[in-house]
Amino acid sequence: MSFDFAARVERVEPSATLAISNKASELEAQGVDVVDLSVGEPDFPTPQNIIDAGQDAMDAGHTGYTSSNGIRELREAIAEKLRGDGVDADADEVIVTPGGKQALFETFQTLIDDGDEVVLLDPAWVSYEAMTKLSGGSLNRVDLAPYDFQLEPALDDLEEAVSDDTELLVVNSPSNPTGAVYSDAALEGVRDLAVEHDITVISDEMYEQITYGVEPTSLGSLDGMADRTVTVNGFSKAYSMTGWRLGYVHAPEELISQAAKLHSHSVSCAVNFVQRAGIEAITNTDDAVTEMRDAFRERRDMLVDLFAEHGVDVPVGDGAFYMMLPVDEDDAAWCEGAIEDAHVATVPGSAFGSPGYARISYAASEERLREAVERLAEHDYI
Ligand code: PMP
Repeated sequence: MSFDFAARVERVEPSATLAISNKASELEAQGVDVVDLSVGEPDFPTPQNIIDAGQDAMDAGHTGYTSSNGIRELREAIAEKLRGDGVDADADEVIVTPGGKQALFETFQTLIDDGDEVVLLDPAWVSYEAMTKLSGGSLNRVDLAPYDFQLEPALDDLEEAVSDDTELLVVNSPSNPTGAVYSDAALEGVRDLAVEHDITVISDEMYEQITYGVEPTSLGSLDGMADRTVTVNGFSKAYSMTGWRLGYVHAPEELISQAAKLHSHSVSCAVNFVQRAGIEAITNTDDAVTEMRDAFRERRDMLVDLFAEHGVDVPVGDGAFYMMLPVDEDDAAWCEGAIEDAHVATVPGSAFGSPGYARISYAASEERLREAVERLAEHDYI
């Protein structure tokens, strides 16, 4: 028989990073040593106190369902964390999700109807586009590449792009894939436009703990933003917990109660003992977070210097663990060549809406990063 697939899934392409990771696995199976800089996860183990808390929770029998929105103690801890960021948060305005991705998915599904306009700041993390298409929304994209990926100089372009028809704007600072941390002036500019055109804004703060010498501002803390900001965050990057699948969304209660229907009818709840480990993570893991942040910063600085030695000037951001390396106009061909010839895996910028760049993740040891640059230089890719 042939299936009659739903239009919403046919609108979406498989993840662009898949082609690269398939290629990397293929080469590795042939015994080739690939330096994989395509992955979006910290290369550190989950801190031991979090693992212990998860194991203790399992031993204590916390293996059943929890209330759908998450256990109260964790939601209280999340609300307290957000209040520390200046967001007026209450535990009843939080849903704990299996990963920040699910939090974003629920937000798109809750807000976007067929044809509703979603504005993205390019380059943008790949899943925003897919989530827009899955919800039936239409995309309107503002390109930050001409401004070294900063938002502040692009505010005029954003002003041109948004209108009263804009339903949702997605802001991701620190940014995947650029590492850019947007200035307060940029966020205030976003606020002014959001208020003027009555736009809901997602503030994806997944990398908020990973910044270098700057304090990221939480968009929801700005005057006028409390009732129109959906703050999404998670445990994957800050605490090196990608496989645990734990994240959350905070928004005004009326939005949360709509999203909670999707949540309860899809995932039911995040994993019970993982939520309990999350309490340990959020309340008791400062030293490990600082250690990881310091390591990322050293790697970033080293990588920028190494590229500079080869005459490549990389627009460098103050957060996350990514940078966009300027490459050939045909970035897909560059990335394919780089993995085939130099055995270095990166992700084409076009996957994020910015052709002419390759995204490099520096969540790898200094030794491997050096090796990658040497190989790229040796094979004339830089
Ligand atoms: N937002 C951004 C910008 C991300 O890079 C990621 C992970 N790659 C997520 C959200 C989702 O992370 P998770 O589901 O692991 O919490």
